[in-house]
Amino acid sequence: MLETLRNIVQEVNAAEGLNDALEIIVKRVRDAMGTEVCSVYMRDEHSGRLVFRATEGLNALQIGEASLAPGEGLVGLVASREEPVNLEDAESHPRFQLLKGLGEESFHAFLGVPIIHQRDVLGVLVIQQAKRRRFDESEEAFLVTMSAQLAGVIAHARVTGAVQEELRAGAGGPARINGIAGAPGVAIGTAVVVSPVADLFAVPRKPAVSRRDELRAFKAALAAVRTDIEAVSENLRGEMSPEDHALFDVYLGILGDSAIGGEVARLIKAGQWAQGALSEVMIRHIRHFERMEHSYLRERAVDVKDLGTRVLAYLQDEAKKELKSYPEQTILVGEELTASALGEVPRERLVGLISVRGSGNSHVAILARAMGVPTVMGAVDLPYTRLQDREVVIDGYNGIVHLNPLPEVRARFQALADQDKAVSRDLESLRDLPCETLDGHRLPLWVNTGLMADVTRSLEQGAEGVGLYRTEVPFLLRDRFPSEEEQRQIYREQLEAFAPRPVTMRTLDIGGDKALPYFPIAEDNPFLGWRGIRVTLDHPEIFLAQVRAMIKANAGLGNLRILLPMISNIAELEEAMALIHRGHREIVQEGTDVTLPPIGVMVEVPSAVYQARALARRADFLSVGSNDLTQYLLAVDRNNSRVADLYHSFHPAVLQALCAVVEAGQAEGKPVSICGELAGDPLAAVLLLAMGYEVLSMNATALPRVKKTLRSITRADACALLAEVMLLEHSAAVLQRLQRLMTERGLQQFVHAPVA
Ligand code: PEP
Ligand code: MG
Repeated sequence: MLETLRNIVQEVNAAEGLNDALEIIVKRVRDAMGTEVCSVYMRDEHSGRLVFRATEGLNALQIGEASLAPGEGLVGLVASREEPVNLEDAESHPRFQLLKGLGEESFHAFLGVPIIHQRDVLGVLVIQQAKRRRFDESEEAFLVTMSAQLAGVIAHARVTGAVQEELRAGAGGPARINGIAGAPGVAIGTAVVVSPVADLFAVPRKPAVSRRDELRAFKAALAAVRTDIEAVSENLRGEMSPEDHALFDVYLGILGDSAIGGEVARLIKAGQWAQGALSEVMIRHIRHFERMEHSYLRERAVDVKDLGTRVLAYLQDEAKKELKSYPEQTILVGEELTASALGEVPRERLVGLISVRGSGNSHVAILARAMGVPTVMGAVDLPYTRLQDREVVIDGYNGIVHLNPLPEVRARFQALADQDKAVSRDLESLRDLPCETLDGHRLPLWVNTGLMADVTRSLEQGAEGVGLYRTEVPFLLRDRFPSEEEQRQIYREQLEAFAPRPVTMRTLDIGGDKALPYFPIAEDNPFLGWRGIRVTLDHPEIFLAQVRAMIKANAGLGNLRILLPMISNIAELEEAMALIHRGHREIVQEGTDVTLPPIGVMVEVPSAVYQARALARRADFLSVGSNDLTQYLLAVDRNNSRVADLYHSFHPAVLQALCAVVEAGQAEGKPVSICGELAGDPLAAVLLLAMGYEVLSMNATALPRVKKTLRSITRADACALLAEVMLLEHSAAVLQRLQRLMTERGLQQFVHAPVA
């Protein structure tokens, strides 16, 4: 049964659009269950009616015609109860209603199960049989399993299918795809699809500029792969049996003109660029093999994929040699955007980002916010490989992508973009004013940095210090670990740019969703794995080089602070401190006069909240990393779009933890700051002020808004509000209360996502 289930799901996954998917489902489920009828009814999003959308065994002419009102008939009963209905004799049920023309009169046994995706009833899957009998428990369980597995695929096919239809129809009509808000703002621009290296499934489709050049490149790539395979084949000749060895001839055959090679060449001649043509043909063949009944043949899909990937890698290598040009208003689109992909686009041309994977707290989204680039994350239904060179509008406030927008929608977004610019200009007047509440309480606002470009922007916004310099960013943009001297120069630039303002440098925080290309960490559960301080304590040579570079860079300046990420126990802090002291001692012994900088601990793991006092006693300061702390407290992967709506920054448990850390720091007489994204949210800033945080550190783009908000209230009001909010038990209630405050103070433009 499991095998059948797996095959059906795989086949449906490979379907082209919703209709294709539904046809496969009804056919394969009917065969698998040995029934006479299998049909799918899909709920119409506008009318709510359950429309007869696919069948094997009933009158196919009624597809798209026949439908039931919500709650009507047995199908409606399944949908409204959100439970299976299993009947020996359907007609004798009081809710039975005959849909004329379907031809179901002769079928008595009925089993209907709802198709539910993320709590939403998408439709109903029904099997019917002439014989009067109740489907047994295992049949019912199988259909329920099948439906649950297919729901996600159907939901995806429903959205992408509709969008693809629009894209196919020449200029195409408007389409909108929901994702997750990544970085605020709106952008209108031209999509540039970035494809990961050698991923056949992520190649953008676009026409060839010169068919002859594309064909030549393809032939050269094929020849290179053929040479590689021949070399491998030669090497292994003596070590494999002749039968096994014959496999290489098969490989070479596949690449030949009469097989896949020929198909790709034909597509190129018809106008596709080589990478797109290769991807299209290879995917078709891979799917074909994957659908084969025989497991030996099914496994050949892996070989075909491997061959295609090799050819693609050569094509990509060749393309890399050409200078890539970016449109004036580039919107970068990718399956999973990375910091290095952002770095490749000239800043003045980059207006927006769309990532199919990830969510608002992924590091790429944080970087985008720091850069002030509107971003949509988690656009899982976006057929992104088809977007190359198309006009795209992104609404980073609401996490929505608009394709082929109507002129009036485009104009509305343009107006919004202009309005945003006007608000930013207004806020510029705050630059040299202190962040001070109406009753005279000063709360320094610092910035989070990583890229060199952050420095200018931060100083322009009036930053009073750096609360978090993410040192992994310069590490991410290289192809090997930077040397101690290279690091010293990078850190010196940061320290000099801000001196005498303090600069808090966090030691390397890799792992989780931050993988160095040259130091991959493959784990099943990376956020609970080898991350941050755990990696660097296991590699003292990397840690020591880094802290030595920091301490040396601080010579003569004295504005460095060192921050340790992901501390989850006291021993880690002690070990890290011992290494920092050792690094410092070594440098002094080498003859350089340097001071030992203050050492701080990031509180971003729940255990650190409970041990905050013990940590504060040993360290010089604490800094809360609310991004990770929220993820770990609520057990919500910050990078997973499926659970993004459970990532509640204003969850009462998060607020309690935030209060507890300040109290612990105060009890030990040590300053407590916060450098997670929460600090840059004007609503949260009011609460953090009241809790007693001594510094808020945020991305430079957020700083003026937070300053404006804090300058519009008194600390006394903020404290009263905090007392009120701490009694609330739902995140939504906290949010509502904070939103009310902002409206009362005339600051609603910092709260409500503008709706276009
Ligand atoms: C945090 O976790 O809140 C934090 C500031 O660190 P990062 O986002 O880099 O993990
Ligand atoms: Mg963190």
